[in-house]
This record gives sequence, C-alpha cells and structure tokens, in this order.
Amino acid sequence: MRHSAAHVMAAAVCKLYPDVKLDIGPSTEDGFYYDFDMAHRLSPEDFPAIDAAIKALIKAGLPFERREVTRDEAAALLAGQPYKLERLADIPAGEAVTLYTCGGFTDLCRGPHVATTAEIGAVKLMAVAGSYYRGDENNPMLQRLYGMADVSQEALDAALTRIEEAKRRDHRKLGKELELFSICEEVGPGLAHWHPKGARIRVAIEDFWRREHFRAGYEMVFSPHVGRAKLWETSGHLGFYRESMFPCMNVTEGEGSHAAVEQYFVKPMNCPFHIQIYKTRRYSYRDLPLRWAELGTVYRYEKEGVRHGLLRVRGFTQDDAHIFCTPEQIEDEVRATVTFALRILRRFGFTDITAYLSTRPEKAVGLPERWEQATRSLESALKAEAIAYQVDEGGGAFYGPKIDLKIKDALGRPWQLGTIQFDFNLPERFNLSYIGEDGKEHQPYMVHRALLGSLERFFGILIEHYAGAFPVWLAPEQVRVLPITAGQLEYARGIERRLREEDVRVTVDADNEKLGAKIRKAQLEKVPYMLVVGGRDAEAGVVSVRSRADGDQGAMTLEAFMEQVKAALTE
Ligand SMILES: [Zn+2]
Ligand SMILES: [Zn+2]
Repeated sequence: MRHSAAHVMAAAVCKLYPDVKLDIGPSTEDGFYYDFDMAHRLSPEDFPAIDAAIKALIKAGLPFERREVTRDEAAALLAGQPYKLERLADIPAGEAVTLYTCGGFTDLCRGPHVATTAEIGAVKLMAVAGSYYRGDENNPMLQRLYGMADVSQEALDAALTRIEEAKRRDHRKLGKELELFSICEEVGPGLAHWHPKGARIRVAIEDFWRREHFRAGYEMVFSPHVGRAKLWETSGHLGFYRESMFPCMNVTEGEGSHAAVEQYFVKPMNCPFHIQIYKTRRYSYRDLPLRWAELGTVYRYEKEGVRHGLLRVRGFTQDDAHIFCTPEQIEDEVRATVTFALRILRRFGFTDITAYLSTRPEKAVGLPERWEQATRSLESALKAEAIAYQVDEGGGAFYGPKIDLKIKDALGRPWQLGTIQFDFNLPERFNLSYIGEDGKEHQPYMVHRALLGSLERFFGILIEHYAGAFPVWLAPEQVRVLPITAGQLEYARGIERRLREEDVRVTVDADNEKLGAKIRKAQLEKVPYMLVVGGRDAEAGVVSVRSRADGDQGAMTLEAFMEQVKAALTE
C-alpha cells in the first residue's frame, strides 16, 4: 500500500512538473519516498498542491494495471527518463520486465500493488531532502520527497502523533535540555559524559541494582579495563571479536636488556576477568553456585554510521554478571535469574516483557546433553514466569543457548534489554573446573547475564520512556524549594537541610524572580515536587506543596510532606 502511495505521489508530481526525471520510490517503515530530478527545487510550500493532486488520484479509485513487456518496449516507453533506463538495464537478463500503470502514469516496477488507489487510505507529505543518485556523491543530487501513508486518516493521524511524540521524547534532545549527558567531538564519538543530573539518576539505578543483587545472593567484583593479548587469545576474542575491539596498545615492560613490548587491549567484555578470579583457587561443588556481578565499563569499536546518541556507543557500562554452577543447580539458577530479571525490569515501569529463545546452531561447541539441559532450563523458566516467547530455532551463538528479554516502552516501541546466555566455550578454553561429590574434576556451567544491557543505552531508553519526567525514586532533583521573596530564603535553606538529612535530592531556587517564573522553570525541568514558601508558611512552619503528578496539595508540615515523598519513592 505504501509503495503504491509512492506511485501516486510520482503521478501527482509528473502532473505538476512535466519536466521531472524519475528514479525510484520504495516504501519505508511507515511511509515511502520517491527520488526526483527536476529544475524546480521542491519545498514544503509545494506540498499542499502535491497533496491535493494525490488526494484527487486516491479519490478517483484508479486501478493499477500490470503489464509484462520486452526490454525494447520498456526502453521505448521510458525514453527521456535516463535514471529509469539505467534501472531497466540493472534488471538481470532472463528476469521479466513489468510496468505498472495507474491514472496515465506508468512506472517500471516489480510490484506488487494494491488493486486501485482507493485502497490507499490517507497520505501526507513529510519532507524533502537531497539524495545522491544511487547514494554516490559523484552522481547528480536528486530531490527525495518523503511521505507517510496509512489505511485511513485516523490511522495516519495516530502514526503522525506517535512520530511527534517520539520527537518530543528524543533522548538526545531531552538529554541536552535537562542537562543529563553529552557526547562531544573533542573526546570522541560514542563516548558519553554523564552530567551531575544524569549521574544522580545513574547512582539511583546503580544503588538499586547493587542492593537487589546482594539480596538475590550475588557478590560484586571489580576488574581492570585492560588486559594482555594472551588473555584475549585464550578467551578467543582476538580470533573472533577483534573487529569490534579497539586496536592494541604496545607497552614496554622490563628494563634494559630485559625490556620487551607487551600488547594490551582495552576490554570489550568483562568475562575473562571474572574467569581469572575463579581460577585463583579450587572450588568444590559445595562452593557453587557463584554469582559475580560487576557494573563493568567496556569499549567496543562501533562503526561511525551506527552510533545514535546513547543507544549505540563505543564506551558503556554493562550490568554484567557471571554464574558458575553445577549441572544439578542449573535449572534453579536459570529460573531464579529469569525471575530476578523480570523484577528488575518491572521496577522501571516496563511491564510488557517478551522473550526470544535462541537454540543450538549447526556449528556448536559443548556436549549435546548440556545444550539440551540448558535450553530446557531456559524454556521452563519462561513458562514458569508465563512470559510470552518465540523460539529462534538454531539461532543461538556457537557457544550456548540464550534468552533475550524485550520490553515495550511507553510508546509501544520494542527494545531488547536483558540477555541470559549460556557459555560452553570459555570454561573449556580456560580449563575451569570444580571438584564434584565424586571427588573428581568437573566443568562448571557458566552463564553470562546482563539485565539492563548497558547503563548508557538503558538510560537513553529510560529518558524516552518517561519523556524526561522520571519517577520520584529516579528523579535527579526530587524537591525544589521556592521562596516567594528573599525574606523566606533562610527558612527555605532550613527545609533544604532537613530534607537532605533524609537523603532527599533537594535544591532551593534562590533566584530573584517572580514565583510564576520559578514554577515554570521547575515544571520545565520536570521536578516532581515544588515546595512554595511564603511569609505565612514560614511563620506557621509549613510548606505549600505542588506535586507534578497531583497538582496543588495545599500547606502541610514537613513531616507530612516527607510521608508523601516516602510513599512516592516506592512507586
Ligand atoms: Zn512500484
Ligand atoms: Zn560475560
């Protein structure tokens, strides 16, 4: 339908600008575009006329007629259309050449198309931008006209609203407006800086994350940021993952005639370090399971084109953990890990969670029985939690099955966050073992898992999910005290001190501005609570509470307000 809309738009443009040279017009996720070459430079001022011509064509309910032709016939029909003729020449010999005609406009096209233009519900032109023919800057610059199309005006309006809403929530825009983070050229692409307000949120996330992990029986570890080439050779990263790693650092070690150059790599993953901790001693089956977690900052060499604000970065902190356990423990461990992952994700307001289970590919390492047991344990954990899941048969990594957890944000957009990944490769490569009940050495199961993915990407998603209006427990500034005049400044400072003692994130707006301006500022910065204090409030020892969620709450004592905050912190 959207591709048919592209034809209709091209027909409309041909009508209005007879000299136009056409290239191609594919559909996109929620719309379509068409590339034109013509003397007139299109601008949004031209859109109403083109929109009207499109509407007329849709209303006429014109049929799309398909016709198979010979190359010569096609070439004759497309005479005077240089791009079309080149596209015609691209069609491999032996493949049929088809034309679609609709309302007197004929286009070289493989199809398929809707039966008539009446099936195109509604169309809206969105933008025009320059685009090189075939994406090559040595070619002529064409004009790419973008449109959206949907089955009805209502559906199109809803899609347009979603796009507007997504723009409003864009974490790059909000990150700047709310002073949460920045990425700058001087430091390098894909390297994020957390500003004080963003860092407040990160600390709240980390505090919550650590507390929950300790409660769930995890221990914390910390590991270095760089390691010798030998480590990454043993782990296999230099063999399979080198393209995604930053290049090596040559470090001279030893002195004089003993000096030698050692190669170091900055870590793309934390696993080899956790394994080194494991290897410092011997374990018996009674010591297992071990659950070691680390907010580990890693660096990966992402290509220029794929970076997007915080969603794709080169330096990021994984909320990583590795579980080492016996075959007898694996079912319980996986079950507990899935339950734990869901609890963590739900705390951030993500309730729509689905899973993808990826199973054994053709080429794989590890014993088939272990693959079976691991896959079964993942699947039964999903069933026990009643999580909807799809199975990607054979789609697993060569070293173990995994589940990916996907959430939907407030706009219904899906994001992949957590992963629970078995590994039959690293325990083998690093020769990990424990002493079993039989007194013999056995290989432990190893599971990698990250629940939020990376803190940077997760933060980007959270900003958009909450549109910057973070819940009280995450808000960088939970309370702002607004003295009406300088006369209440001292009283306001006293309130600030008392709230700070209660670990409330609070500031005072001491600017010499009118109250209305202070309130607007706090609203723009999405502060959950404003405490307005005037002369009478100060005398009575109360505060006038304005809550972001519930509006004006009237005057109350600081103790009563604290009760409200405490209740809101659990939401
Ligand atoms: Zn077509
Ligand atoms: Zn790992």
